[in-house]
Amino acid sequence: MLEKTVTDNVLTLIYLFAAVLFIFGLKMMSKVPTAARGNRVSAVGMLIATAATFFALTGGAAISLIWVVIAMAIGGFIGLRMATKVEMTAMPQMVALLNGFGGIASLLVACADYARKATAERFVSDVLEVLGTPAPAEDFVGLTGTSLFATGLATLIGGVTFTGSLIAYGKLQGTKWVPDQPVQFFGQKPIIATLLIVSVLLCVVMAGTPGSGVNGLWLFLIVLMALALGVLLVIGIGGADMPVVIALLNSYSGLAAAMAGFVLNNYALIITGSLVGASGLILTSIMCKAMNRSLMNVLFGGMGSTSGGGGSQVTGEAHESSPEDAAIVLEAAEQVVIVPGYGMAVAQAQHAVKELAGELEKRGKRVYYAIHPVAGRMPGHMNVLLAEAGVEYDVLLDLEPSNAQLPQSDVALVIGANDVTNPDARTNEQSPLFGMPILDVDRARTVFVIKRSLNPGFAGIQNPLYFLDNTRMVFGDAKKVVTELANELEGI
Ligand code: NDP
Repeated sequence: MLEKTVTDNVLTLIYLFAAVLFIFGLKMMSKVPTAARGNRVSAVGMLIATAATFFALTGGAAISLIWVVIAMAIGGFIGLRMATKVEMTAMPQMVALLNGFGGIASLLVACADYARKATAERFVSDVLEVLGTPAPAEDFVGLTGTSLFATGLATLIGGVTFTGSLIAYGKLQGTKWVPDQPVQFFGQKPIIATLLIVSVLLCVVMAGTPGSGVNGLWLFLIVLMALALGVLLVIGIGGADMPVVIALLNSYSGLAAAMAGFVLNNYALIITGSLVGASGLILTSIMCKAMNRSLMNVLFGGMGSTSGGGGSQVTGEAHESSPEDAAIVLEAAEQVVIVPGYGMAVAQAQHAVKELAGELEKRGKRVYYAIHPVAGRMPGHMNVLLAEAGVEYDVLLDLEPSNAQLPQSDVALVIGANDVTNPDARTNEQSPLFGMPILDVDRARTVFVIKRSLNPGFAGIQNPLYFLDNTRMVFGDAKKVVTELANELEGI
């Protein structure tokens, strides 16, 4: 007994140490220069926590170890293949899938724990009955009201996260079976509300009747309702809002893991789950703020159902410019603001962009990068690409400082960005983007937009920026055009 307590205490200390590493890692990840180190510190924490759990649970029993090792090898192999093969542009889908796996893992852990304890409970009850010593079975096997409540919540949140993430994956991947448009039907919100209320009530009922044999049925119903809720919640949201949904589902997966931690009495899970839950929620709130939308509006507003319409009807003509002409204007500029978007990621133009900026800086120009919080296809997408190309952190400006610089800039060089520069968001109440803070590139003296055509971006709406008098379109693949621009500059 004493030995067991000592082992438990050592395990708790190891978990706490791992949790400290997670917290330090997370803190380091908030700054570009220390982000990679932060990732490694957190990975070491995870390794320590996993190894400790591994040995504590198996107790060195060879047969259990073999199953765990086989499962880890299969999971590790698939994870490694996915991580090395995934395109940078498909990263949001990958994150969605991983959130979903986290959710289903918590659901399975909670249900398996219930099944194991419920079986033990029945066994203990039977023995007690034979011995004629009536005593509450839960005292012996740990199916307390609190643990049952946590089991219900882990199952509910985990199930919602799983199916919700699969739908988000389908929407971003552009699969035929999940429409990108929001799917909304009569009575959807009341159905969602009913499912949510009934499943939470069932968690309360389970918690209130720990010894009841019907709890297994309630848990099964919670599983079904959670899976349905995940689909219903996310199917009604447009593809353009998926980044926010993924951040929210990430938070859910953390909460589900924290609940599973309560079920298993595992401190490491409770702490890491809470960290993921809180950071996902903060990210969700930052993204909503960046789009000037409330979370309720994102979840139930059905934005995107008008995709392809609702923007300005284009009048006038777009003015085209060649890389040579653009290079001459850049040569004359004093301050240039580079505005990267999804097209830079597609073209993998970040290194060429860094070279072009270097050419400009060599000529004494001030160069900044204006980073919109939802540019690209995942939070921090532009920061990651530019950091990979070696762009210094201090020239990356967030939305507000960028908008302070743009009116006093000679050139705004828009590279594969579209929605995040659409002036309709400021002025056109009919536009689906109305109210979303944008980068005010149209306020720069001259705007060069590098993209392949006048086609719309992710939101599917036209951009009146391209038809303004101070805008020049330089058509072509971002990498090719930016390289040409740098070469032209070199030759001037
Ligand atoms: P957009 O999707 O609005 O526009 C990207 C533009 O890049 C397109 O209009 C396209 O035009 C151009 N492009 C594509 N390939 C190339 C290429 N090889 N060379 C040059 N240009 C290219 O991107 P933004 O970054 O402006 O906005 C992001 C949008 O994505 C927002 O609507 C946001 O809500 C959404 N979103 C954001 C996520 C995030 O977390 N950041 C995640 C998911 C969605 P053309 O075809 O003419 O070349």
